[in-house]
Amino acid sequence: MDKIPVGILGATGMVGQQYIALLADHPWFEVRFVAASPRSAGKTYRELVAGRWHHAKTGGPGTDSLVVEDANDVSRAAAARKRGELSFVFSALEMEKETVKALEEAYAAAGVPVISNAAANRWTEDVPVLIAEVNPHHASVIPFQQKARQWDRGFIAVKPNCSIQSYTTPLWALMQAGYEVRRLAVTTMQAVSGAGYPGVPGLNVIDNVVPYIGGEEEKSEREPLKIFGAVKNGVIENAAFPVISAHCNRVPVSDGHTACVSLEFGAKKPSVEEVKRIWESFSGEPQALNLPMAPSRPIIVREEPDRPQPRKDRERDKAMAVTVGRIRPCPLFDLRFVGLSHNTVRGAAGGGILNAELLKAKGYLS
Ligand code: NAP
Repeated sequence: MDKIPVGILGATGMVGQQYIALLADHPWFEVRFVAASPRSAGKTYRELVAGRWHHAKTGGPGTDSLVVEDANDVSRAAAARKRGELSFVFSALEMEKETVKALEEAYAAAGVPVISNAAANRWTEDVPVLIAEVNPHHASVIPFQQKARQWDRGFIAVKPNCSIQSYTTPLWALMQAGYEVRRLAVTTMQAVSGAGYPGVPGLNVIDNVVPYIGGEEEKSEREPLKIFGAVKNGVIENAAFPVISAHCNRVPVSDGHTACVSLEFGAKKPSVEEVKRIWESFSGEPQALNLPMAPSRPIIVREEPDRPQPRKDRERDKAMAVTVGRIRPCPLFDLRFVGLSHNTVRGAAGGGILNAELLKAKGYLS
């Protein structure tokens, strides 16, 4: 089949580069439009990322020679869409929240669907915050979103914060198996690439742990409740549980966010062996649909006492799997475990691509 032409807003950044790398050989999508700040507009992609490209191989001649647009000028994308050179965009912009919100809405209003990594629209009640294995049914709010805003083809669908990826899918698997999760204490150890490029200065993080990431604990405590929520009357109603307490730390790791989790179940409590069985056998809609970016197993259980580790486990299954280990009883709550996921792949560009594949397969991206 002819590949679908897609665009990337924020293509020059940490997440944008990951999109370019992951889409270089994608069977369905081809990058034909790239945009960044006004500082970058008019230059070729190759020129702009020279000296700050993060991957072993480039996106290839197709993307290297693209001329970067100003992401603030929506008319360029609208014109590309009319010429049949753009179907939808991935948004990986790092700008002031209200500016990103308005900009993403302007793209959608111009008939260009937005699959976003930015936080700006995560709390808009008719915008789904998708983890493809967890809440694919939340995509059903998209027609209501379009109708409420009189958008014919455009819409906005977003991904959650990268810090919650390493435990949200395991929690969902337990809930699906009939075990209510009431309370959760989580401590994250988050990679430097999570702060974008150039991100955290080396001297602040080498030989150090920074016990603060602006806004991250609030996102970690709230976003899972929307993801676990229910669709009612065209909007998403948040779940009441679990109550989450989060500590988010920046650590000197290049890629891969780790989370140490203690959780309390409702009245029904699984054994450690039952938890492992649930996680090892968990599968979602992306696996049933055999989507190109889907990991064959969304959750990988490690039995070794010293795993998961970022360097050894973050690349597993296209860097799209969540790896869990150290599953054991908790003297304060019921169960403890450690989760790990690749923040710029599963937690950002790879997760965004999987969401786009899911929306395409479900008929939302015409
Ligand atoms: P980044 O490396 O700082 O890249 C930011 C991008 O935004 C660049 O392409 C930059 O273009 C563009 N930009 C900056 N100011 C702009 C402006 N005024 N107008 C238009 N474009 C502008 O950030 P990142 O880490 O890739 O993050 C991108 C988004 O993904 C953020 O919303 C972030 O919260 C989210 N996210 C990041 C991660 C992660 O692990 N890094 C994970 C999940 C979600 P120039 O190169 O021209 O400046």
